[in-house]
Amino acid sequence: MQLMKRQPVVHLQNVESVADSIMHLPTIWIGIALACFFTMKTDAETPKTVTVRLLASDGSPTEPTAQAKIVKSDQDWQEQLGQEAYIVARGKGTEHPFCGAFFDHKKTGHYFCTCCALPLFVSDAKFDSGTGWPSFFKSFAPENVVVSRDASHGMVREEILCARCDAHLGHVFNDGPPPTGLRYCVNSVSLRFVEKKP
Ligand SMILES: [Zn+2]
Repeated sequence: MQLMKRQPVVHLQNVESVADSIMHLPTIWIGIALACFFTMKTDAETPKTVTVRLLASDGSPTEPTAQAKIVKSDQDWQEQLGQEAYIVARGKGTEHPFCGAFFDHKKTGHYFCTCCALPLFVSDAKFDSGTGWPSFFKSFAPENVVVSRDASHGMVREEILCARCDAHLGHVFNDGPPPTGLRYCVNSVSLRFVEKKP
C-alpha cells in the first residue's frame, strides 16, 4: 500500500521535472546560439596562419614554421608597392617579356616576395627559358609557393602565389628542365632580390 501511495508522487516529480526542462528550453537554446555566435566571431577575428619555411643563416630553408597570413587593404598595397607591382602582384597582371629586372639576371642569391619578403626562389634553380620572364625549376620551399588553377584568358594554367600574402607571382608549367621538369614562370616585379654575400 505504501508503494502505491508513493508512485503518484514520484510520477508527479517526473512530470514537474520535464515541464521545468521545457520551460528552460528557450534559455538553453539562447545559450547555445550565443556560444556559437561568439565562437564564430572569435574565429573571424583570429588571424589565419600558414606553414612556411623561412631563410636560415646558411641560406637554406628552416623547418616549417607557422606564420600569420598577411592581409592588407588595396589602398595599403598600392601605397607600399607602387602602381606596376600593385597591378601584377595584387591584380594578377603580367609584365611584358624581356622587360623585367630579373629575366636575364645571373647573380647568386635569394628572390623574396616583393609584398611580404617571404623567400620564394633561389638563384641555383634559375635557368634561361628563353621566354623573357625569370624562370626557376623549383621554389625555395614547396610550402612557400601555392599553386592554384587559373582558367582566365581562355586557358587553363597553374597560377603560383605567395603562401603568406597571396601575391600573384606568375604560373608554373610542366615543360621545365630536370630534375623537376617544372618551369616556374615569374614576374620580376613580384620579386625582390638579395645577393648572397661571399
Ligand atoms: Zn608574400
